[in-house]
Amino acid sequence: MLEADVVVVGGGPAGAAAAITLARARRDVVVVDRARFPRDKCCGDGLTAGALRHLEALGLRPETVRSWQQVDDVWVRSPSGRVACFPMPRGQGVFAAVAERADLDAALLDVARAAGAKVHDGHGLTDARLIDDHVELDVEGVGVVRAPYAVGADGMWSPLRKALGADEPGYLGEWHAFRQYFSGVGPQAAGLWVWFEPDFLPGYAWSFPLPGGRANVGFGIQRNSGIRVRDMKDLWPDLLARPHIKEVLGPDAVAEAPHRAWPIPARVDKAALSRGRALFVGDAAAATDPMTGEGIAQALLTGRLGAEAIVEAGPSDAARATSTYERSVRRELVADHHMSMLLGRALKHRKGARGAVRIAGATDWTRRNFARWLFEDYPRAILLTPRRWHRQMLTGPGAYAP
Ligand SMILES: Cc1cc2nc3c(=O)[nH]c(=O)nc-3n(C[C@H](O)[C@H](O)[C@H](O)COP(=O)(O)OP(=O)(O)OC[C@H]3O[C@@H](n4cnc5c(N)ncnc54)[C@H](O)[C@@H]3O)c2cc1C
Repeated sequence: MLEADVVVVGGGPAGAAAAITLARARRDVVVVDRARFPRDKCCGDGLTAGALRHLEALGLRPETVRSWQQVDDVWVRSPSGRVACFPMPRGQGVFAAVAERADLDAALLDVARAAGAKVHDGHGLTDARLIDDHVELDVEGVGVVRAPYAVGADGMWSPLRKALGADEPGYLGEWHAFRQYFSGVGPQAAGLWVWFEPDFLPGYAWSFPLPGGRANVGFGIQRNSGIRVRDMKDLWPDLLARPHIKEVLGPDAVAEAPHRAWPIPARVDKAALSRGRALFVGDAAAATDPMTGEGIAQALLTGRLGAEAIVEAGPSDAARATSTYERSVRRELVADHHMSMLLGRALKHRKGARGAVRIAGATDWTRRNFARWLFEDYPRAILLTPRRWHRQMLTGPGAYAP
């Protein structure tokens, strides 16, 4: 039997953030992940300013991530075909970047290892039990792992949540998204593109730039938008054939196999955040942004908050750990979640999406600030939550500022 202070299930951004925070607080932490790293994760690979700030604070260095690509310009096409360019601030650090998840997640897990976390990748959780003052987990190839706390960072389908009976039967996520890597893309694809296609609203298609003439290209739909998830594969060639998308990808773009699709859970205001001595973080807590489907920043944040709550409560006071964690998630995420839901509703309609792009692109000031807001440089609902106001809230430097 393996014993630890905390066992983290899942070594993605949420699990790695929790492990780094716990290891730095001198907790004995074991991470188990059924995949062996580096492993792919179906994702757009886009890193918002929010995600970048967390990565910097956790100690990740961009130069350790092979496919790291800083983004300077964001291009958005409205459903009526109007294109607006939103420049990120220059010379003040990084506000948006793209990095293949295979590279990013492996590099972040290396930071966790260096901080002292014991990582068992290639070993999946098969079952779990809550027993009085600890949690007992069955892990393939490791055996029983026992700890006062478990952190469920094991993604959308969270086997830990399921094993502990905190699962919601039939839940399939709010979004479903599809992505494929392309090589040989043209010069226009060096920018980050978002296309609001009239027939996918409030969903959108994207091309996110990667080094070496590559791009992560994909599209996401809301589950209740009338498009069936099983039709996504057939819609993909149609989307790629649209002239404005073809033009950006360029004539020599070649699709790399395989394409992949995965659900996106976005209901942190309703999700079970804990069960007994287990705290759920990241996609396991349905923490993605309901307007854009971005979830890396939220995974990093909830991983950190979960770990901090455990450290603060100590090994015996599980009730305090769970209530502190739930309170801090409500404080940090729920207002932004509700704001994103409201804006998402406006984007459902052609007029709303068209109006949003028009207003956002109206002046230099709106263009600059829209880009920073879209990329979570400041919280979505900052203007409605005065407790989070501070002097540099709209003008501060990006991550990794010189
Ligand atoms: C197509 C698509 C595009 C997206 N694009 C973006 C984007 O551009 N930017 C953005 O910010 N977000 C994006 N997201 C959302 C983002 O991918 C997730 O929110 C994020 O990966 C959540 O991180 P996580 O650590 O919670 O979970 P994950 O990254 O899913 O990690 C979960 C880990 O748990 C492990 N695991 C699963 N089962 C077990 C088990 N039984 N035992 C042990 N380990 C287990 C898995 O192997 C995995 O490593 C996108 C999602 C999709 C589907």
